[in-house]
Amino acid sequence: MIVTDQPEELRHLLDEARHAGKRVGLHPTMGALHGGHRSNVRQMAAECDTAAVSIFVNPLQFGPSEDFDAYPRSLEADLAQAEEAGAHIVLVPSNRAMLGCDPVVSVHVGRLSEVLEGPRRPGHIDGVATVVTKLLSVAGPCWAYFGEKDFQQLVVVRRLVSELLLPAVVVGCPTVREPDGLALSRRNASLSDDERRAAPALYWSLLAGKRLVEEQSARGPEQVRAAMLAAAAREALLELDYAEVVGPETLRTPPAITGEVRLLAAGRVGRTRLIDNVVASPGEA
Ligand code: AMP
Repeated sequence: MIVTDQPEELRHLLDEARHAGKRVGLHPTMGALHGGHRSNVRQMAAECDTAAVSIFVNPLQFGPSEDFDAYPRSLEADLAQAEEAGAHIVLVPSNRAMLGCDPVVSVHVGRLSEVLEGPRRPGHIDGVATVVTKLLSVAGPCWAYFGEKDFQQLVVVRRLVSELLLPAVVVGCPTVREPDGLALSRRNASLSDDERRAAPALYWSLLAGKRLVEEQSARGPEQVRAAMLAAAAREALLELDYAEVVGPETLRTPPAITGEVRLLAAGRVGRTRLIDNVVASPGEA
């Protein structure tokens, strides 16, 4: 596995691979790799000939109340996991290499950043969009792997690629969960034992909504939302931030559930903020 801190070297290596007729994949991460990232890299390595991972703790995507300096950094363990999962190249660029010293250009995302995580994490979505645009520009034509775990981010990246005419095919990867349903996240490590026991309630509340849509043919988003809120309220340690029923591309609540929707929720367990989502398809048993 080749490890480089030079974006130009990644571009050169991927150009060579493409010239040799290889299919190239990129999985952007912020490091602190876990089983979710490993699964995404394994999928990428199975579907592509050359699998590249980027590890960059993006300062632009931290909201005003979020601590960039406290973000866990574990490069050696990350590289071992990336290699074990099948990565061929890892880019670990410096802030300077990715952002320059006095940036004046950024990518602004309209409507899709006005809902869900957007208002709660000011600057976050534009920060993600700006750095993803740079990474995809450095990588060149590729298959780009993003987790469904961060569903709004996946939707934004799809729109970004389509509207900015970036030469990437965006691939959504399924969310990897603990046996009790909790989605893997670096944030899970901050939970106390009691909080860890409470945390899967976020996922279970989504499942309550999904059951209503898929098994009881509920078609009213408000009814589904109420079921998610009620389920979440049963766990005293979970302080729900939002639970929403939205169209999978618009991220807006439809007047009625007539096709596939996404159920998304966020909440705090103690001081740890968790997000999760599931698909719900009416008509499926
Ligand atoms: P991050 O390092 O948090 O920026 O995440 C890098 C990528 O991994 C993003 O595309 C995430 O959506 C994805 N990811 C995070 N958690 C999971 C998970 N539990 N299962 C699958 N993918 C995930």
